Amino acid sequence: MAERIDGRVRADQVLAEVQTGAMAFREATGRPPGLAIVLVGDHPASLSYIRSKEQAATKGGLYSETHRLPATMAEDALRRFVGRLSEDERLDGILVQLPLPETLRQEEVLAALPPDKDVDGFTTLNQGRLLAGEAGLRPCTPLGVIDLLRWHGVSLDGANVVVIGRSRTVGRPLALMLLEQHASVTVLHSHSQSLAQDVLRADVVIAAAGQAGIVRREMVRPGAVVIDVGINRVDGKLVGDVAADVADVASAMTPVPGGVGPMTVAMLMANTLEAARWHY
Ligand code: NDP
Repeated sequence: MAERIDGRVRADQVLAEVQTGAMAFREATGRPPGLAIVLVGDHPASLSYIRSKEQAATKGGLYSETHRLPATMAEDALRRFVGRLSEDERLDGILVQLPLPETLRQEEVLAALPPDKDVDGFTTLNQGRLLAGEAGLRPCTPLGVIDLLRWHGVSLDGANVVVIGRSRTVGRPLALMLLEQHASVTVLHSHSQSLAQDVLRADVVIAAAGQAGIVRREMVRPGAVVIDVGINRVDGKLVGDVAADVADVASAMTPVPGGVGPMTVAMLMANTLEAARWHY
């Protein structure tokens, strides 16, 4: 039976480290690191995500403020709003919760964020920095995945890692970050022809497709480590991308919920602290 890689336990450790760093920052500067959360509309999943981000900010000793804006807000007005927030010196990080309502273009809104406050790491400049191997704010979910693997003692150097998913926010940046760790990376997506065979070769499987059960037991090499990023609602229940019985063959596996999710939130707080340190 696979060992459980408990994201809640690790996230609490990360938040405790953030809290220590935030205290030191406050002593040095007279203010805590600050995070603004911007939610446009009232998407139920987004509401629950921002609540966990607010709670994590409190745990990590950060100042946070949440701005709830109407779904009808015009793109220009939202860009100006984000621009005003970015001038506030108490705020080191600004998070615009995605997805935005369909009337708003994500790229245009993100472009209003200054890269040094882009704690989600989604702006073009921060993504370019990742590609170039330069320092910058990295996306939180990939950071959380890499941290969990390191925490569990998984050596990535030379390991065969399969990432299912190539989105701009998860799969693609994760693949680049795995390369930084010297893993041999295969990225699979909806056009991939040999998903089952490719997954079977992997020492580490990371599923980020948003397809419940896409990773099945017979696809996983005995002893492989499996990280489940997926969040899917099936019959009112939250499940990942990995079938439950994969735990019979994997050596270690993250649960859903309680795996990558809490790590994403914890890494957002770590990024906010990092951004705050850059601002001084
Ligand atoms: P996207 O929908 O943006 O991307 C999904 C990716 O998976 C795409 O690259 C897509 O391929 C690929 N894909 C979809 N179906 C298949 C398939 N049948 N076979 C192979 N590849 C497939 O999703 P995100 O990257 O934003 O998120 C992925 C999952 O992770 C979702 O369930 C999301 O809820 C979850 N998530 C979890 C987080 C957490 O904190 N735990 C944070 C962020 C996301 P193609 O590019 O060809 O379309």
